[in-house]
Amino acid sequence: MKTTHFLLIRKCILAAFMALSVMYNLSFAQEKIVGLFYLDEKPVSIVIKDGKIAEVNKIAQLPASGRNIYIAPGLIDNQVNGFNGVSFAFGEGELSEEALIKATRALWERGVTTYLPTLTSNSHQLLLRNFTILGEASKNESLLGSVPGFHLEGPYISPVDGFRGAHSANYIRKPDWNEFMEYYIASGEKILTVTVAPEIEGAMEFIKRCNELGIVVALGHHNGSTEVINRAVVAGARISTHLGNAMSNTINRHVNPLWPQLSNDELMISIICDGFHLLPEQIRTFYKVKGPGKTIITSDVTMYANLTPGIYKNIDGEDIELTTDGKIQYPAQKVLAGSASTLDKGIGHIMKVTGCSLADAIRMASTNPARLYNLDDRGIVEVGKRADLILFTVENFRIKILKTIVNGQVVYQLSE
Ligand SMILES: [Zn+2]
Repeated sequence: MKTTHFLLIRKCILAAFMALSVMYNLSFAQEKIVGLFYLDEKPVSIVIKDGKIAEVNKIAQLPASGRNIYIAPGLIDNQVNGFNGVSFAFGEGELSEEALIKATRALWERGVTTYLPTLTSNSHQLLLRNFTILGEASKNESLLGSVPGFHLEGPYISPVDGFRGAHSANYIRKPDWNEFMEYYIASGEKILTVTVAPEIEGAMEFIKRCNELGIVVALGHHNGSTEVINRAVVAGARISTHLGNAMSNTINRHVNPLWPQLSNDELMISIICDGFHLLPEQIRTFYKVKGPGKTIITSDVTMYANLTPGIYKNIDGEDIELTTDGKIQYPAQKVLAGSASTLDKGIGHIMKVTGCSLADAIRMASTNPARLYNLDDRGIVEVGKRADLILFTVENFRIKILKTIVNGQVVYQLSE
């Protein structure tokens, strides 16, 4: 009996010792990276420890091999409909934990370390099922916290052609708080933002209730008047979704939703900077009005992004073409059917057309969305924040991602 006790105690001590040594090793797992700091373009050394930024130190110079490599916080994309062959609107059996991981890994290669999978107007059944699947899948540890929540774009938007954009008229409906609560609960209370049209019946009450719950309300796919837009802002709307897109081609030159959204200082804007959705002069004007503090670069990428150019069938069986220059269009009408450009391209494009600094471009693609969605642990390079970092070069307004670090782990490294 005594010998058994002794053996048991010895086993326990051994196990405790092993656990301690694992903890010791983990707590001392650290990495140091050097590069040009994105804010001032001066050499910096960053120490990463336990998934967080432990030190940020100015240094005299960089090794010759790394003199043109920048370090910035990982990019944060608030509108991702799908990526790399994965659609978040996939049907039964197709949307899964594996699909979410596949899309996330491919986004890491583009420097996106946080994103909001986005569901657009669809049937009640599909939205409920897909939010349930995504809510559960987003807990998977191999995602390293890259999916903190979701974006619901629709179904409470304008049913009018032009304003509804590519959303199917069959699924557009008036706001229904009980229905929305079903989605919210199914998602694990992780719907961080909803895009709605403020002019439709019941929208103001819906905006107020979202605001009370801390859900960021975005105005989009709408034809709100100045009075309605201003009321929506008072009710809690914070941002305009992909300003300049999802609007009728025949708007009135005076009375249209652009002016009130541009002129209301309380509204931020998101813009698609892929070089196709907006003209350079639109981006320049929007940027001049809102500035780098109230602008967010979004991608609005779809499942065809990151695939080989060619013709694909969409979920409804229609032909979709991914062109060699990075457009996604319906080949028959040559109308845009979503975006194929990730935020890394958006940064280069906005720098090119507005002349903004790299620091401002990164602010619009990382810091601003982090602040808007209260993701206080990311979007900035500071001691104590998550070590979500990208290393990259900028040449001719093209960002080349060399290395992506998420929660302190190197998840992507460009092979030589
Ligand atoms: Zn949209």
